[in-house]
Amino acid sequence: MSWVKNKMPEQEPQERRRNFSEVALGYAPDTAQSEAKRCLQCKTAPCRQGCPVGINIPEFIKHIKDGDFDSAIAEIKTKNNLPAVCGRVCPQEDQCEKYCVVGKRGEPVAIGRLERFAADQFRLSETKQPAQPAELNQGKVAIIGAGPAGLAAAGDLARLGYKVTVMEALHAPGGVLMYGIPEFRLPKEIVASEINELKELGVEIMVNAIVGKTFTIDELLNEEGYDSVFISTGAGLPHFLEIPGENLNGVYSANEFLTRVNLMKAYKYPAAGTPVHAGQNVAVVGAGNVAMDAARTALRLGAENVYIVYRRSEDEMPARAEEKEHAKEEGVQFRLLTNPMAIVGDDKGWVKGLECIRMELGEPDSSGRRKPIAIPSSNFVLDVDTVIMAIGQGPNPLVQQTTPGLEVDRRGNIKADENGQTSKEGVFAGGDIVTGAATVILAMGAGKKAALAIHEYIQKKKGC
Ligand SMILES: Cc1cc2nc3c(=O)[nH]c(=O)nc-3n(C[C@H](O)[C@H](O)[C@H](O)COP(=O)(O)OP(=O)(O)OC[C@H]3O[C@@H](n4cnc5c(N)ncnc54)[C@H](O)[C@@H]3O)c2cc1C
Ligand code: SF4
Repeated sequence: MSWVKNKMPEQEPQERRRNFSEVALGYAPDTAQSEAKRCLQCKTAPCRQGCPVGINIPEFIKHIKDGDFDSAIAEIKTKNNLPAVCGRVCPQEDQCEKYCVVGKRGEPVAIGRLERFAADQFRLSETKQPAQPAELNQGKVAIIGAGPAGLAAAGDLARLGYKVTVMEALHAPGGVLMYGIPEFRLPKEIVASEINELKELGVEIMVNAIVGKTFTIDELLNEEGYDSVFISTGAGLPHFLEIPGENLNGVYSANEFLTRVNLMKAYKYPAAGTPVHAGQNVAVVGAGNVAMDAARTALRLGAENVYIVYRRSEDEMPARAEEKEHAKEEGVQFRLLTNPMAIVGDDKGWVKGLECIRMELGEPDSSGRRKPIAIPSSNFVLDVDTVIMAIGQGPNPLVQQTTPGLEVDRRGNIKADENGQTSKEGVFAGGDIVTGAATVILAMGAGKKAALAIHEYIQKKKGC
C-alpha cells in the first residue's frame, strides 16, 4: 500500500493565476479507486469521530473501491446534503483525516477528495433521477438565511415531513458558498446544483426576503402560522481596523470585494452589470482564508502586485496550509510582521499608499500566540492603490434587534444550547450566528442538530 495520497490534478499556477476556473480538477475513476484501496476499513472507524455530520466514511469508501459509485453517494447523502461543497472546502486535515489510522504512518486517506469524487460522479451522471419529494404534513418551519446551516436544517426537516420555507435576504441562496468562497475553489454551478436537490425534496426558498424587515420572527410565529423558526443568518458583518483613511476610494471590506466578484460576477464586467475596481498594487490586510481568497481574486482581476499584510509571522497565520501554498505559488507576496497604521490618499480621495509599522514578536498572549509589538520609528509606506480589509466578520444584527426576548452574548451572537434552542420558545439558531465565524461543516452539523430538536419540539407541542 502507498503511504502517500493519490495526487489530485490541478491547473498550473502560471495558468490559473489569471483565470477563475476551478484550480483542483478532481480524481478520475481509476485514481479514486486506487485511493479508496488505501482505506483499511477499520472496525472502529476513528475517522467518523472527526466528521461533524457523522458520515459512514469506510462504507462509502468501500463502495468506491468496488466501483459502485451510486451506492457511495447514496451512503454520503444519508448524512450530508452538500457533499460536492464539503468535499471541496472542508478543512479535512482538522477533521476526519486528522483521525485516520493511515495518517499515523503516512498521509491519511484522502477522504475529502473521495467525497468530492462521489458527488461529482452523481452530479454529472446522465441517468440521475430527481429526489422524491417527501410528504410535507408534519407542520411548518421557517428558516432564516440560506447558508450551509439553514440548508442542512431545511433538507433534514423536509425529509422528516415538514413544509420548510427558507427566507434569504440576497437574490440567490447559498450564503458564503455563493457570495464569499471564490469560483476557483467552489464553482457556483455546483452550489446551485446541490441546492436544487433540496428544492426537489420540496423545500421552498424565498429570496429577497429580509427577516427583520419583510417579516419579524414574531410575525412568522404568530401571524404566518409557522410552528418553529431556525435562525442561521451567519457572520456577514465586516470588521474594520478603525485607522485613518478607511473611507478612501479603493478601500473594500473583503466581504464587499468578494460579493461583487462571486455573487455579482463582476469579473465578467461589462457583460455582468456590477463593476469592481481592483488596482495594480493591492494590499490585503489579514491572514486567514478570507484574506487568501481576496488576494488570489485580486490577482485574477489583473493586479500586478498583491500583498498579504499581517502583523504576526507565518507560524501564527490562521489560513489553511493549502490556501497559503496556493497563494504563494500564484505569486501573492507576504509582508509579515507588518501592521497597518493609516491609509494614505491622494488629493482626489483615492488610495495611494498604506502606512505600516514593522513588528516583532513578544511573549504569548491570551490566545497562546506570541504577541506582536511595534518597533519604534520603523514606519514605511507600501505603494498600493487598493486596500482590502480581511480581519474578520461579526454577526448580522437585524434579527436580534427586532426579536424581543432573544438573548445575545457580548459579541452580539445569539445564545443557543447545543441543540440550538434559544431563550425564546419555538426559536432555534445555529451556524456562524451562534459560534462566530467558523466552518461550513460545523454550520451544517448545527443545522442538522437543530432540525432534530425542532422535530421533537413540534411533536411534543402537538401532543405526540
Ligand atoms: C471568504 C470566505 C471563505 C471561507 N472559506 C471556507 C472554507 O474554505 N471552508 C470552510 O469550511 N469554511 C469557510 N468559510 C466559513 C464558512 O463559509 C462559514 O462558516 C459558513 O458559511 C457559515 O454558514 P452559516 O449558514 O452559518 O452562514 P452564512 O453562510 O453566512 O449564511 C447566512 C445567510 O443568511 C442570510 N441572512 C443574513 N441576515 C438575514 C436576514 N435578516 N434575513 C434573511 N437572510 C439573512 C445571508 O444573506 C446569508 O445568505 C469561509 C468564509 C468566508 C467569508
Ligand atoms: S480511519 Fe482511515 S483507514 Fe480507517 S476506516 Fe477511516 S478512512 Fe479508512
